[in-house]
Amino acid sequence: MSKPVVAIVGRPNVGKSTLFNALAGEKISIVKDTPGVTRDRIYADVTWLDKTFTMIDTGGIEPDSSDIILSQMREQAQIAIDTADVIIFITDVHQGLVDADAKVADMLRRSGKPVVLVVNKVDSVQKFMMDVYEFYNLGIGEPIPISAANRMGLGDMLDEVIKDFPEDADTEQDEDIPKIAIVGKPNVGKSSLVNKLLGEDRVIVSDIAGTTRDAVDTRVKWQGKDYIFIDTAGLRRKGKVKEEIERYSVIRTVTAVERADVVIVMIDASEGVTEQDAKIAGIAHERGKGVIIAVNKWDAIEKNDKTIYKHTNRIREVLAYMPYAELVFISAKTGLRISRMFETIDAVIENQTLRIQTGVLNEILSEAVAMQQPPSDKGKRLKIYYMTQVAVKPPTFVIFVNDKELMHFSYTRYLENKIRDAFGFAGTSLKFIVRERG
Ligand code: GDP
Ligand code: GDP
Repeated sequence: MSKPVVAIVGRPNVGKSTLFNALAGEKISIVKDTPGVTRDRIYADVTWLDKTFTMIDTGGIEPDSSDIILSQMREQAQIAIDTADVIIFITDVHQGLVDADAKVADMLRRSGKPVVLVVNKVDSVQKFMMDVYEFYNLGIGEPIPISAANRMGLGDMLDEVIKDFPEDADTEQDEDIPKIAIVGKPNVGKSSLVNKLLGEDRVIVSDIAGTTRDAVDTRVKWQGKDYIFIDTAGLRRKGKVKEEIERYSVIRTVTAVERADVVIVMIDASEGVTEQDAKIAGIAHERGKGVIIAVNKWDAIEKNDKTIYKHTNRIREVLAYMPYAELVFISAKTGLRISRMFETIDAVIENQTLRIQTGVLNEILSEAVAMQQPPSDKGKRLKIYYMTQVAVKPPTFVIFVNDKELMHFSYTRYLENKIRDAFGFAGTSLKFIVRERG
């Protein structure tokens, strides 16, 4: 199920980071070790009532001269328009209404995207309410007073935000068509792959005139079946500061991955797998999507009978956290193994939605337990009562035990391996929830 995306836009110092932190709480995803984005939180999942959404901070404005602020705000707003379902436009009751606010409000209004206008730093409603009314002049609806620092008004704001969510983020007319996101560093060949799919005689293509977000979606027919490719290369931003480009590409990757069933992480064979590849793949892993590592430009490297093993080993080493990922060695240029890629996509989608009957699952479980005793601590041994699959995409299992504390992650890993030995589940992560039963 694809989660709606909410972007926060506003001038420097109005309280964007404060609001982001207040909403994200502990559940903040930081793209670690990426220069420039290390300290910044770019995205996080937020749950309000029964709705979960992905919040992004389009951030990155340096308080500089005012004309630079305006152009950067426009840039920010454009990212929000491109990627978000709902935009939170945040202003500051202390700074009051400024010209840049009005210009950005115009831009947001013209985009037709739902905008929730909030006025921050209203620490005392009595004191500031008159000043809040001034923001009606922006012409983007009723201003909602909040105090991000004191966590006031956030509930009212979130009520407005979720009201604007699409009825069901997944009920696009192409609901049943597999969606495949192609992600990867610049220049690995993402566009070339999409172009190849467009150019092949064997595929029939139609553009999807959809929402703005779907602007780079490509529909492909392969051997009678439909697929939608979500291309993150399509909307590349030129120039600008490196950090900004990086932030933007993380946002693109997250929103594309969020909407996809399967993610193709593209790697350049001529460069080999890098830390940056690992970070990008990590986004797909973290979101529980099906993952295929496509090692591209296979035509361009010198090969002998060991090359493929060397690449495989190196990738398994760098992407050690996702041993389940499928690997294909392709060439977007020559079309090498493109059909293998499609077969892998089909298989991964099947695995993502595979359901194992509780009875069968528990046969595997008792065999596994018989072969390797569950861990014990201070004389108390872990007892596993039974296991049942509660969800798909990714397949999720609940394990009922006598004492959660005794369940060591290495034993969960052992059980996961046994399940994989029996049922495969190639290309998809598995999720385990441990519950106590008295
Ligand atoms: P950003 O640049 O938009 O991300 O703004 P920050 O979140 O860094 O906040 C800028 C300043 O405003 C900081 O000093 C915050 O402590 C302050 N601030 C944020 N929210 C509130 C609020 O609700 N009330 C008050 N009085 N100050 C706030
Ligand atoms: P993107 O930034 O990931 O979309 O990468 P592009 O599709 O723009 O490709 C970057 C460069 O790699 C271009 O010069 C392509 O011609 C080249 N390229 C892409 N795929 C292949 C391939 O399979 N083999 C070879 N030899 N070159 C490729």
